[in-house]
Amino acid sequence: MAAILADSKAASILKALTVGEPIYYRTEDGALSAIAYRVDHFNTLVATREGKGFKVTLESVKPEVRRAQASGVITRSLFLDGQAAGLPERVIMDFADLFGWDVDFVRDIKRGDRFKIVFEEIFRDGEKVANGKIIAAEFVNGGRVVRAFHYKNSDGVDGYFSERGEALKKAFLLAPLNFTKISSRFNLARRHPILNRIRAHKGVDYAAPMGTPIRAVANGKIDFLGVQNGYGNALVLQHGDRYSTLYGHMLKFAAGLSRGEAVKQGQLLGYVGKSGLATGPHLHYEFRIGGVHVDPLTVKLPHSMPMEKRYFADFRHQTGTLIDALVAMDNGKASDTRTVATAAEPNATSRRSR
Ligand SMILES: [Zn+2]
Repeated sequence: MAAILADSKAASILKALTVGEPIYYRTEDGALSAIAYRVDHFNTLVATREGKGFKVTLESVKPEVRRAQASGVITRSLFLDGQAAGLPERVIMDFADLFGWDVDFVRDIKRGDRFKIVFEEIFRDGEKVANGKIIAAEFVNGGRVVRAFHYKNSDGVDGYFSERGEALKKAFLLAPLNFTKISSRFNLARRHPILNRIRAHKGVDYAAPMGTPIRAVANGKIDFLGVQNGYGNALVLQHGDRYSTLYGHMLKFAAGLSRGEAVKQGQLLGYVGKSGLATGPHLHYEFRIGGVHVDPLTVKLPHSMPMEKRYFADFRHQTGTLIDALVAMDNGKASDTRTVATAAEPNATSRRSR
């Protein structure tokens, strides 16, 4: 055992062992010759005698991913009818999360609503060992059809989109910080409090205590980070092709951020301060569409962020057959779960154009 624990990888795995987990061993001529411990469904730690010591290897088998599908009609609840259709609990939960921005599954759900789901199942040696992610889904809610497709490419896009290529999550938070009050609105003819002359106020000011966290309102890329004239410590995020947001007068930026880096919605950008031309601590927040300033408080926010145009052809290519699969599923039957095909690994066919 000491020889095995000398191997750091083996030691870290074995330290996680709990009482009752099986260890397999083999003896030769009364002496221990090999020990095997199954770490998970796909990895086995094997120690084989070699001279006086043991040689430790981690043997892995590749999971086999298959696709399954199920459909059903709501008669009681998504959960009960999903189970009746043969859907694993986790897949039902994922389905509810997926459409959670669009559908209130407690209040909006109606008798006769229909669901169709294509999802992954993970197999080892022909035996199902786990459920994978949802690949495609459709929900007909009071006659309204919402669909979701999983899409991943080599540029780091990884998420769920409608067939029009809109991300399912809401694209923008309503404000970049909480617990605040608006101290100055968007006003193209405002008298500047410090400069004392008419200067358009092309954003919204949120008065907040020094150090209040500021969050990215949407997924995006850092287009600027540094000191920018009257804005002091400022950060600009580019969101897809058309939208950008600016955060000004920051006390400081969140650690580790740099220009060109991707940020996620809700990610910490920095802290409220009064750098630049500011009378007191506040966040100056701007919203631009196609380079033109708009009022962040009244702008009709895009329901969801469209994916970048350059990915759309690849997205349609990857999801085209899934739309057909959803359409072809018999939605008259209450229960229809079956394995339909062995899924290929998501192939990243998009080319980089940067
Ligand atoms: Zn301002």
